[in-house]
Amino acid sequence: MLNLDIRTVLLSYTLCNLICALVTFSLWRQNRMRFSGLGFCMSSFALNFVGVLLLSLRGIVSDFLSILVANVLLAAGTLFLFIGLSDFLQRKFNQIHNYILLGIYVALQASFTYVHPDLQIRTILFSSLIVIYVSQMVWMLSTIKDPFIHLFVKELRIISSLFLFLGVGRIVYAFIVPMGNDLIKTGNLEAYIFLGFQIIYLSTTFYFFLMVNKRLVHILEEDIIKRQHIEIDLHSSQEKFYKAFHASPASVLISRVADGKFIDINEQFQNLTGYSREELLSSNLRSLEMWVDITERDRMIQLLRTEGTVRDFEFLGKVKSGEIVTLSFSGEIIKIGDDDCVLSMLLDITEKKQIEAILKMQITLWEYSVSHTSGELMQKVLDETESLTNSKISFFHFLDAKTNSLKLQAWSTQTKENFCKAEGEGMHYPVNKAGVWCDAVRLKRPVIHNDYESMIDKKGMPEGHAQVVRELVVPIMRDNVVKAVLGIGNKPANYHEKDVELVTNIANIAWFVIVEKQADEEIQMLNEKLEVLALTDELTKIYNRRAFFMKGAEEIIRARRYHLPLTIIMLDIDRFKLINDTLGHDSGDYALQCVAATLVEGVREVDVVGRLGGEEFGILLPNTKIEDAQRLAERLRQRITENSELKCKLKMNITASFGVADYQLQIKDLDELLKNADTAMYKAKNLGRNRVAIFTSESDKM
Ligand code: GH3
Ligand code: MG
Ligand code: MG
Repeated sequence: MLNLDIRTVLLSYTLCNLICALVTFSLWRQNRMRFSGLGFCMSSFALNFVGVLLLSLRGIVSDFLSILVANVLLAAGTLFLFIGLSDFLQRKFNQIHNYILLGIYVALQASFTYVHPDLQIRTILFSSLIVIYVSQMVWMLSTIKDPFIHLFVKELRIISSLFLFLGVGRIVYAFIVPMGNDLIKTGNLEAYIFLGFQIIYLSTTFYFFLMVNKRLVHILEEDIIKRQHIEIDLHSSQEKFYKAFHASPASVLISRVADGKFIDINEQFQNLTGYSREELLSSNLRSLEMWVDITERDRMIQLLRTEGTVRDFEFLGKVKSGEIVTLSFSGEIIKIGDDDCVLSMLLDITEKKQIEAILKMQITLWEYSVSHTSGELMQKVLDETESLTNSKISFFHFLDAKTNSLKLQAWSTQTKENFCKAEGEGMHYPVNKAGVWCDAVRLKRPVIHNDYESMIDKKGMPEGHAQVVRELVVPIMRDNVVKAVLGIGNKPANYHEKDVELVTNIANIAWFVIVEKQADEEIQMLNEKLEVLALTDELTKIYNRRAFFMKGAEEIIRARRYHLPLTIIMLDIDRFKLINDTLGHDSGDYALQCVAATLVEGVREVDVVGRLGGEEFGILLPNTKIEDAQRLAERLRQRITENSELKCKLKMNITASFGVADYQLQIKDLDELLKNADTAMYKAKNLGRNRVAIFTSESDKM
């Protein structure tokens, strides 16, 4: 066997440990943040380096350094390697017993260095401690459960087993062969043992280096796979977002907060606004002037700024065509890169709003019809329709089937006040003579004239009529017959199918309410007529007996309550029978009419003139004293005679006899008052006719 010099071996071992220490140092530097335990491993090699260096200087430096310190450093180095590896392999142990063992070892080492210097015992003690540490290491490496770590500790397990084997061998050797007291001269085998340790340390470093790198590669691989997954996820979520963004039935857009610039918009938004993608992407929310009311935009932005999110904010928006639409906005501030952006969703709720408005209008109209005339009702319909369609003028015509002409029923308030100065209410326009605005009647369907100026046939508008820019006229049909037309005009944008639908609905609802109202009005008119008929004398058109009695009863109550005078005059035409017989019944009738007219003419408006029957009349004179009544009766008496000749051109002179009576507190009722007047009248007859007699208590006795 080749003779080796121990000091040379130890020096080479020192160098080898230095290299190992440097390699682990660089491993520690690069990976200390990633893996734990590397610090302990690096310290282990550093300690070994110093330890072996001191060992190789045995006899040159003090025993304290080369024996005590060197061996303690080597033992601590082995323990640190164990601690470092178990940390690195995530198999941490409580190491307190190993530190205690190290302490005991230090004491024994010191004792066998200074008290009983004995190299052999020191060698056995040292090797035993190493065997204890390494055997724990072998056990630790053999019981690793993590399948991944398990993969790359195999080599290290073999090396540490060799380490253990060498340690045990050294103990056995130390027991068998006396060593003397000088390490440098212990012999060849000891030198080979050191060589063995050296190889083991080199291999440990090499495999440790490989192990760290394998683990690094593994982490890298895992990282790549993770990234790939993230990328796939990201891609799929991007794809999902893209699809959701572009396929959304709502209008979606992303705009920058700072300048309102559009970042992206979906097709629905283009459809909603009418602008092309290029137009939108080259402009911003402000330049499009989409808000009808700019303060609403400011309010919405304020909400977005303070809340970060806005839900179902309703506002009136203007699209490219100038059309005003009701929009519902929901938005949220999102970060894209460094920019604050708004992810917005817009829904066109114009139709929904219109349906709500129609329902509301129906209720409003029914309520309105209670206390308004059908004319006012129509005007209300037009006002509401204008505001819903953003129109400026509107009209309502009824079709008179007999004359085939349209009769203007109503104009909207706005049309009357601002636009139309023509006199047209109740005016008839023959359908066959009217211009294009009558197309709705002729074609029996709604018509739109968005460019009214260009129409050839514009006739039929009266002087002062509002200038029509564009119009929409819908017919109101019942049983395929046009009953009326409702027209609106001069909306700032073109009329389209949506307007047709809305106005047709409104017109039909309005028609129901209007027809009902008109029927009510007709019934009321008939009732009033009936009432007048029931109270009027057919021949003379003055109050009949019933009406006269009703009025008389009322006047008596009033006179009694307010202590006012009340007088009654009764008159009877003298020898009327003779008139009938001489001039004929018709002339008699005419004479009656003449007398009635004379009476009505000759009294105040508050006085009540009635025909009590045949050729007998009564006059109620409220707030009139008997002397005044007497004077009036006298005047009437003369007037009757005058009129019969001059005004009525009767062939016979007519005279009448008058009885006057006044209401006094002792009188019970109208009957009694009439009776008194009647009494006075008969007194006049008896006194020779054609005169006025006053009722007195005396005459009553007659
Ligand atoms: P006296 O001066 O006493 O009142 O005589 P007189 O002829 O007026 O009295 P009388 O009561 O006898 O006659 C009333 C006549 O009036 C009888 C009736 O034919 C007639 N008379 C009643 N109602 C009408 C009517 O509506 N038209 C016409 N033409 N005659 C009527
Ligand atoms: Mg008479
Ligand atoms: Mg009479």
